[in-house]
Amino acid sequence: MIARQLGRSVILIERGRHPRFAIGESSTPLANLLLEEIARKYRLHALLPLTKWGTWQAAHPEIACGLKRGFTFYHHEPGQPWKPDERRSNELLVAASPHDRIADTHWYRADTDHFFVREAQRLAVEFVDQTELNSVHFRGDAVQLSGPDFSVTANFVVDASGPRGFLYRALGLQEQPFQDFPATQALYTHFKDVKRWADLPRCSGGEPPYPVDDAAMHHIFPDGWIWVLRFNNGITSAGVATTRDVRDGAKSWTEVLKSLPSVQQQFERAQPVLPFFHLPSVAFRTIRAVGPRWAMLPSAAGSIDPLLSTGFPLTLWGVARLARIMEQNWESKALREYERVTFAELERAANLVAQLYSHFEQFDKFCDVAMKYFAAASYAEAARRLNRPEKAPFFLCGIDQPIESIDVAGLNDPARRNCYPCRGEDLIANCWKLGVSEEEVRGMLGRVGF
Ligand SMILES: Cc1cc2nc3c(=O)[nH]c(=O)nc-3n(C[C@H](O)[C@H](O)[C@H](O)COP(=O)(O)OP(=O)(O)OC[C@H]3O[C@@H](n4cnc5c(N)ncnc54)[C@H](O)[C@@H]3O)c2cc1C
Repeated sequence: MIARQLGRSVILIERGRHPRFAIGESSTPLANLLLEEIARKYRLHALLPLTKWGTWQAAHPEIACGLKRGFTFYHHEPGQPWKPDERRSNELLVAASPHDRIADTHWYRADTDHFFVREAQRLAVEFVDQTELNSVHFRGDAVQLSGPDFSVTANFVVDASGPRGFLYRALGLQEQPFQDFPATQALYTHFKDVKRWADLPRCSGGEPPYPVDDAAMHHIFPDGWIWVLRFNNGITSAGVATTRDVRDGAKSWTEVLKSLPSVQQQFERAQPVLPFFHLPSVAFRTIRAVGPRWAMLPSAAGSIDPLLSTGFPLTLWGVARLARIMEQNWESKALREYERVTFAELERAANLVAQLYSHFEQFDKFCDVAMKYFAAASYAEAARRLNRPEKAPFFLCGIDQPIESIDVAGLNDPARRNCYPCRGEDLIANCWKLGVSEEEVRGMLGRVGF
């Protein structure tokens, strides 16, 4: 869509057929902001309603999605029912929005991706589906892409085909694993009749800052974690990422739940509505992400783990950068810089997730690391919303600094006992860390509908 707005002729090639299932569903404040910035800059106004729950519901109630008010974590001891304690030592609730209207969403990808493709077609992108590309040839000043019974010649190819995707295979690229990253598998599907955690007995250690199920719910246990994302069409996305072997579909899922009695209770009436999908190796990084006449989106260059929903912001940041490079006619120095930044961002995110995995048994340490992520992400969002993008030029910028220096959301306050509401007062009190005045913060909070 951006390429069309820049006057290019564009062909979009898809091996499947919409609407189709895709994993990667949960957005974040930063992801939504990046999408909004892209939509405004390239006049893709039709995408703007999808950047907030309220506008999404008003403009497109027919596109299923989920309400995401924050990040909910429960820590489980194997074989033991989850029990709240007063100090909330085994739960972490981090609000991402103060109310539903400006909340984030879980994208029901079958509907959302279909909408995106129809919008692309409306802008005269040529869309060819049920066509799998498997080879690439560079000829002088053009690149030829082919699959069985299909061939097209282009000036440039952007590979958006996901991890271990088209160009990785067609160019015979190598994999370069992230350092010290655990070998994880994932098993996931969509269910109906998943109970709300809040409806289970003993579900919380206190008054939560948002309904705990209207969130990305994470159940943490020693060798992995389970995500639960509820959509507004009765479907719930759930899956496990783990160092265990979970290749046996429903049987593996049942085994994982057996060791987590409270999660088992949440799923006791749940029915999968699709087959289970198994990923034998979740983390991935290719050795090259650009070349003459080609570039991969970050989501094709690497993939880490669903933990903390880093996929969309990484990808959207990459989309914004590639768009600027397209404006400069794919200048090769800029492409090499894009590759450097893409790998650096993927590595920073992988390092964060690896640290979280190493603390799955010690939830207090897990929370310390997670709070650094929330501090870095909220700092970047605030800086960009306050027109100070130079303060957060890349993903997870500042995460290696002491949390006090980047915390603008009251995330470093132990008195909150693992329960963090989203409050404008915190941003106002910390405005000096962003180099802005209280008035500027108040103005921005008003503009975004806080
Ligand atoms: C288990 C899991 C959970 C995740 N959860 C989250 C999350 O909650 N939040 C988040 O931000 N990120 C998440 N991610 C990351 C997220 O999935 C990606 O960032 C996101 O899907 C990227 O979107 P995409 O359209 O670039 O790629 P994809 O969704 O991978 O889509 C690639 C498309 O390319 C097509 N294709 C592939 N090969 C070819 C070919 N050879 N020829 C033609 N077409 C081809 C495919 O059919 C597909 O339609 C998760 C990842 C995993 C593995």
